Amino acid sequence: MKRRRVIYEGKAKIIYEGTEPGTVIQYFKDDATAGNGAKKDTIEGKGVLNNRISEYLMTQLAGIGVPTHFVRRLNMREQLIKEVEIIPLEVVVRNVAAGSMSKRLGIEEGTALPRSIIEYYYKNDGLNDPWVSEEHITAFGWASPQDLDDMVNLTIRVNDFLSGLFLGAGIKLVDFKLEFGRLWENDFMRIVLADEISPDNCRLWDTVTNEKLDKDRFRRDLGGVVEAYSEVARRLGIMPENIQGENKGPVLVK
Ligand code: UDP
Repeated sequence: MKRRRVIYEGKAKIIYEGTEPGTVIQYFKDDATAGNGAKKDTIEGKGVLNNRISEYLMTQLAGIGVPTHFVRRLNMREQLIKEVEIIPLEVVVRNVAAGSMSKRLGIEEGTALPRSIIEYYYKNDGLNDPWVSEEHITAFGWASPQDLDDMVNLTIRVNDFLSGLFLGAGIKLVDFKLEFGRLWENDFMRIVLADEISPDNCRLWDTVTNEKLDKDRFRRDLGGVVEAYSEVARRLGIMPENIQGENKGPVLVK
């Protein structure tokens, strides 16, 4: 059997060559890292859950017209995605103060923000993904003003839609990180949502108890990481054991 070619290996995912032209395969590992790789562990089952959760969220977003790189899930750990040119930015949206914003600006975690705030970080591990402004992004050519405009518009739609979707499942979408890519179709280029959307890159709190159902359980050594990710999948109605059976959709929490 021919060995598959690895195109790129990151901290939590591997990208393999695709099965069709213009596609690649995204493989979800069980590895978890925090603090730019300073803290590392393997969390059995995390990759399977993130593959499924990201598939579900990307598919729902495509349903409201948000273009994404997602094509289809191939198996428990892999999905076929369109090959895009990744824009080297992490676009973070915040609805509630937490994490680095709380630290940097001295705002208590859990404080609702007066409005959703978008921040940009330059994707560069050697520099620890520094915080940058639109000025840096356009001056250094990481994205054009038109690209940025498209990214902001998509980000706002994603935030509005996902906030509602999670709220229906009893989960507060505190903040999350998106990545975008350029998809070339003949001579035309459009910006599409890329990477993954999962508890690895969202802060998800139970609406009633504020219990953390995301990667902060790993970052802050709270334990119960897989249990929390499973709970998110369960509330969205997509636990992996349901995959073959009927997908009942989100469980409405009153
Ligand atoms: N985030 C991410 N990857 C990163 C940094 C942040 O997915 O490299 C996500 C993180 O999960 C959270 C949001 O972006 O949902 C905001 O993270 P923050 O800036 O507060 O950083 P942290 O406290 O995680 O270092």
